[in-house]
Amino acid sequence: MELRIGVIGTGAIGEDHIRRITNVVAGAKVVAVSDINVENAKRIAEEYNSVFYETGEQVIHSKEVDAVVIASWDPTHAHFVLECIKASKYVLCEKPLATSAEDCKKITEAEIACGKHLIQVGFMRRFDKGYKQIKSVIESGKIGEPLMLHCIHRNRIPGPKHTTVMSIKNSVIHEIDVIRWLLGEDYKSAQVIIPKSTRLAEEGLKDPQIILLETQSGVRIDVESFVNCQYGYDVQCEVVGEKGTVRLPDPANVRMRLKGVNSYEIYPDWSDRFIEAYDIEFMQWVNSVKQETLFGPSAWDGYVACVTADACTRAREEGSIVPIMMPKRPAFYDNEERGKRL
Ligand code: NAP
Repeated sequence: MELRIGVIGTGAIGEDHIRRITNVVAGAKVVAVSDINVENAKRIAEEYNSVFYETGEQVIHSKEVDAVVIASWDPTHAHFVLECIKASKYVLCEKPLATSAEDCKKITEAEIACGKHLIQVGFMRRFDKGYKQIKSVIESGKIGEPLMLHCIHRNRIPGPKHTTVMSIKNSVIHEIDVIRWLLGEDYKSAQVIIPKSTRLAEEGLKDPQIILLETQSGVRIDVESFVNCQYGYDVQCEVVGEKGTVRLPDPANVRMRLKGVNSYEIYPDWSDRFIEAYDIEFMQWVNSVKQETLFGPSAWDGYVACVTADACTRAREEGSIVPIMMPKRPAFYDNEERGKRL
């Protein structure tokens, strides 16, 4: 039986996920869509032969919808995820799970109270081949214990409503999650350094930023966030171990020798750079929902990422090193029955 999916938010990534579910993922179809931008959502509903609903709540509670994808504006995520829990429906929520740690906590509490693992967070880098290879090298012990990570997250230009806070809570939150997953440990402290800002940023936007994290075992991480780099979407990650290093490969693109230059193209944004990771994320999510056993990033992962991002924001505002108080993980999130989470 095909999984009937409702999609809330039909902006850039919402439309991309609808195309993915329709054309790439087997065993699922989009039956309902909703967005505050009604005109666009109606166009997409017609193009993909699904039904337009006035509100996200109607999508969630529709009898025609088995599972929900949330790809709307960040501040709406927490409310829609809580509605999905009320309706007892599986939900893949784009990152961030919520815009504050308190809201993430409420979500984990509601999920625990309902007694069923329903939530997966869209941290799709865990499905990326390069990151998976880094993880297996770390776990093989070949490079010894990881000591430092040097990461870069650059966007060509930011979205129209981008803010200094969003550079971390919306963007670097990917590094916060994937590094914790790579290392298998939580963070201990955060610091943010603001270098000279680019003249190409909107007034008031601090860009670039350097985020310094320390894990509980003392691994040191630096992440450069630069949302106005102009040249393309560029994500880099290098792990320095005791005996060697491992780094994310550049995405495979043809090499061109032309007019005395040997070059390859850098992708303009996330949609092409991580297309395979999104595809695998959705294929596995659909299969795991059908088997009623989620194994992708959980609500707990979304919560921990938000706690860390909030600490980074405080560190930037206060100009200090902020200790990160990790909440104790409830046993619910260790449950063997739901399989080993990615
Ligand atoms: P976008 O193009 O601005 O689309 C967001 C859509 O949500 C817009 O159509 C927006 O309408 C709509 N929206 C706002 N409030 C709403 C509400 N109350 N109910 C229903 N819809 C509402 O942004 P995007 O790039 O697609 O991002 C959407 C989400 O995906 C964000 O949370 C973002 O963090 C996440 N994302 C994740 C990745 C990833 O790598 N995993 C990549 C990109 C985005 P208006 O345009 O009228 O405001």
